[in-house]
Amino acid sequence: MAWNERYSRQIAFKGVGEEGQEKLSKARVLIVGAGALGSVIANNLCRAGVGFLRLVDRDYVELSNLQRQVIYNEQDVKENLPKAVAAVNHLQKVNSDITLEPVVCDVNGGNIEKLMEGIDLVLDGTDNMETRLLVNDACQKLQIPWVYGGALMSYGMSMNIIPGETACFRCFNPNIPPPGSMPTCSSAGVLSMITGIIACIESTEALKILTGSPEVRKNLFVIDIWNNSADYVEIAKNPECPTCGQKQYEFLESMKGSYTAKLCGRDSVQVVPAHAGEVDLKAVAEKLKNLGTVKVNPFLLKFTAENIEISLFKDGRAIIKNAKDENMAKSIYAEYIGL
Ligand SMILES: [Zn+2]
Repeated sequence: MAWNERYSRQIAFKGVGEEGQEKLSKARVLIVGAGALGSVIANNLCRAGVGFLRLVDRDYVELSNLQRQVIYNEQDVKENLPKAVAAVNHLQKVNSDITLEPVVCDVNGGNIEKLMEGIDLVLDGTDNMETRLLVNDACQKLQIPWVYGGALMSYGMSMNIIPGETACFRCFNPNIPPPGSMPTCSSAGVLSMITGIIACIESTEALKILTGSPEVRKNLFVIDIWNNSADYVEIAKNPECPTCGQKQYEFLESMKGSYTAKLCGRDSVQVVPAHAGEVDLKAVAEKLKNLGTVKVNPFLLKFTAENIEISLFKDGRAIIKNAKDENMAKSIYAEYIGL
């Protein structure tokens, strides 16, 4: 398609220019999470002409997402589509010149390095500290820059983490907060305008980094759009930092194998079996059909019976709704799916 016409306004902007546009078309980006931040980032980078986008997400589209996850619609909710798949469906229609790769999985220590293969830059679309610390470990180990972003209520922040140049994420977040100690989008709420702003800041920095701009920001940007404040905060490298200082990648090591996780913003627990392999969803549906209601699409199976709702993905992962705790989720998984 007419390349110069499609990107004419971006090429006319001096910061990008024709040379920058060429670089973008050859760039390969991983977006971790396709929720409020990731879906907006994916939309921005797709339209900006970034040549390859790998979009990873573990969840499927729900009605409560539509308030801020702007590329999804009611049809995606109806079809129980995984976010990565729905996002790529929509974005490929916007720009058929670029390559979009959806990956439906939970990012963990066992797969993150593979997901970063051939990648120039990682964008943070996650909603939790644990995954960010994992992304940080992997990026420091593989020497790949990443752009951190987070938003809650009416405030948000973002920083470029460039190995060897800036502080890393762990330098200013030395410890992982205990579960339940941090407010989440479901408990404290979030405005779509702040997730949009932070996602746009992340996307802009991505353009600068990928085009080699001298304007790449080196400090932490913090903004509150309800209480009217914005600031740039200098973050020093911590020489004692286990990740960038001592090169110990404990999150990368600890997040291998089977585990459960409470999902942010949802009354749900995710169960990840250690060795699942590809699940035959139709066979499982056959097994469950007399016990409740079963709906299957090519990506996931949804089973409902009384108070139980299980969404089982092809990779063996399941999201269990209304599970009081992680043990209850595991026993529901064992009872209906089998470990
Ligand atoms: Zn560090």
